[in-house]
Amino acid sequence: MLVGNWKMFKTIHETRHFAEVLGRNVGKLSADIDFAVCPPYTALQVAKVVLPAQILTGAQNMHQAEDGAYTGEISASMLKELGVTYVVLGHSERRQMFAETDGGVRDKVEAAQTAGFVPIVCVGENDSEREAGQTMAVVGRQTRIALEKAAKDGDKLVVAYEPVWAIGTGKTPSPADAQAVIQGIRKVVAEVLGEDAASQVRILYGGSVKPGNIAQFVSQPDIDGALVGGASLDPESFVAMAQSM
Ligand code: 13P
Repeated sequence: MLVGNWKMFKTIHETRHFAEVLGRNVGKLSADIDFAVCPPYTALQVAKVVLPAQILTGAQNMHQAEDGAYTGEISASMLKELGVTYVVLGHSERRQMFAETDGGVRDKVEAAQTAGFVPIVCVGENDSEREAGQTMAVVGRQTRIALEKAAKDGDKLVVAYEPVWAIGTGKTPSPADAQAVIQGIRKVVAEVLGEDAASQVRILYGGSVKPGNIAQFVSQPDIDGALVGGASLDPESFVAMAQSM
């Protein structure tokens, strides 16, 4: 699975351009890979219309309430109309800069699945947690709480392991280290949702993934794909990553 998280990049105009270039390269996209991009809310509708059909769309966040007085927020039913398949939840940028909590992510996961979306739940340790040897403790806690109210169906869930210190820095864990943490995440999924869900759930690696390093991550036994920020903004590098998987 290859997912582009565009963060706060790309207007509608820029999204159309991305889709045009991707459309010219569509023959290079393997039918064995699930593709998605997660544009800003303002470009979600046009992305769904202009992207090749095998590129599904995802939102970058969602509010857990059905509706209400939540200025600036977006609900599941609003996303539903835009043909969204996935919703990224608990991205570290939301946790760090917008005060998202483990419990809030749990409620969003439940609301997203109830609405029929597949949540892409992001977990990851920061630099000081890593240095303190707390990686698995932090990632395990984030995963366990996020899944407390989740469906016991691995098809309805994606988890992304994104070490905070690797996001946008050019630094990455070694493929073996990423594999070890993701194997640990899969164990936590088994504890919370059962063995069947754990064997089905797709767990992605994210953090400074690019065409030159994607293969070494996705070739690890427990790593089912990549969640990519910066390198997913350029349609040619998106295609190059797809071809390197
Ligand atoms: P970069 O690929 O830019 O490091 O971002 C990763 C990320 O946060 C994807 O959600």
